Amino acid sequence: MRERPTHVPALGAPCPWWPAEASALGEPLQDVQTLDCAIVGAGYTGLACARRLAELRPSWRIGVLEALQVGQGASGRSSGYVMDMPHWGPSPDLELHRDMITLSRHGVRLLRAAVGRHRIDCGWHEGGRFHVSVNQRGARALTRFRASLEALGEPFAPLPCEALAEALGTTHYTQGLYLRGGALVQPARLVRGLAAALPPSVQLFERTPITRIEPGPARRLHAEHGEVETRRLVLATNGFSRAWGLARGRVLPVVTFASTTAPLPEPPGRLPQWGVVPEERMGSTVRLTAERQLLLRRGVRFGSLRELGPHVLARVATSHRRSLALRFPALGDVPFTHTWGGVLGVVRSGGPVFGEIGSGTFACGGHNGLGMALGTALGDVLAHLVADEPHPLLAQARRLPPPAWVPPEPLLSVGATATSHVMDLLAGTER
Ligand SMILES: Cc1cc2nc3c(=O)[nH]c(=O)nc-3n(C[C@H](O)[C@H](O)[C@H](O)COP(=O)(O)OP(=O)(O)OC[C@H]3O[C@@H](n4cnc5c(N)ncnc54)[C@H](O)[C@@H]3O)c2cc1C
Repeated sequence: MRERPTHVPALGAPCPWWPAEASALGEPLQDVQTLDCAIVGAGYTGLACARRLAELRPSWRIGVLEALQVGQGASGRSSGYVMDMPHWGPSPDLELHRDMITLSRHGVRLLRAAVGRHRIDCGWHEGGRFHVSVNQRGARALTRFRASLEALGEPFAPLPCEALAEALGTTHYTQGLYLRGGALVQPARLVRGLAAALPPSVQLFERTPITRIEPGPARRLHAEHGEVETRRLVLATNGFSRAWGLARGRVLPVVTFASTTAPLPEPPGRLPQWGVVPEERMGSTVRLTAERQLLLRRGVRFGSLRELGPHVLARVATSHRRSLALRFPALGDVPFTHTWGGVLGVVRSGGPVFGEIGSGTFACGGHNGLGMALGTALGDVLAHLVADEPHPLLAQARRLPPPAWVPPEPLLSVGATATSHVMDLLAGTER
């Protein structure tokens, strides 16, 4: 692990999930604080870890240090699918699949319970989701997904084109599978609600980018106006894991993009809100929100938000517009109100970084776009490791394979960019 990160999080383009009335949930770090445990990153993973640790060790002073405000990072900029299983490409390794499902469902349960207990107003909606395909490439991916569902004994309902058209209001999809499980939410309200409901022994420091971590038995974390001394450190930095050199740089920072329309006068199909998941991995995720806005997420780019000029977002918006028009030709003139990007941590294959990576230093990140539920679950399990307490899912978390090897730079950037372009082209009408 590096002593200084290569870069710290930057504020991205405005995202419509950010609540207009949002105020600060924590102050920036000042002076020198001594903590029993410091957690860097206030996304779903860091917050789940903090909450559980406070329950397991009520006398500990715990601090969560977040570079931005809670909800301005990827956790508040996602598409809002709390997924109870990996959403594309079945791994041939069914045991890995089973473990991921068990962990993700634990995350869904934790989030559902927190939303209920703290009355978090995030539009939690358990209406299931539609896994779909458009062309032959998508159909092959959907067939593989179906086969793995059958092998795992997971229930689903096959849907022909007509049923999808009636429910969603588009004839674009040729076939689909309807699955129960998980939820759709307003992600910024959910993550901010979780932060606002942290136990009193957890102090949240917002607008506190950590720019240096001095090694040693008592680590010293440096921010602009303050320092933290702690014997236990958790890095829950997901898309910034490579910036710290975690897992030998194998958790890749990838920006993905989303756009939303203004509210439609009425839903295009029978359902008042829904979520579609493309089985072709470069396809468009499309969602109708409770406010009747269409959300479209598509496109990936290796790197960080810092490198994205307005011209990149303008190009993304144009391509999203084409994808929306393919699905809803009649809505061609409904404008996008927002187009934004966010950084997630992606592993080429294998699982996320999870566990103790050095004496008293723990890390978790690399959730491949599943972090709302999976990050929550792993953050919860990680808290038990930090407190040296058992957890029924520790074995599953430890069984996740480590992130796979990635080539060194500049091969990595060139290879990742070229691969995503080729895969994007091959996706055709799934885009
Ligand atoms: C457009 C988009 C759509 C997505 N859709 C979905 C979806 O539908 N469902 C789903 O499950 N996932 C989705 N994701 C992925 C999801 O956002 C992540 O999996 C999830 O946020 C992971 O949570 P996390 O807490 O591990 O990481 P993050 O939310 O990235 O939290 C890490 C935090 O660490 C902070 N941090 C990093 N470095 C430092 C530092 N040096 N000092 C202080 N703080 C630091 C960051 O600011 C950040 O807030 C989407 C992502 C994007 C961008």
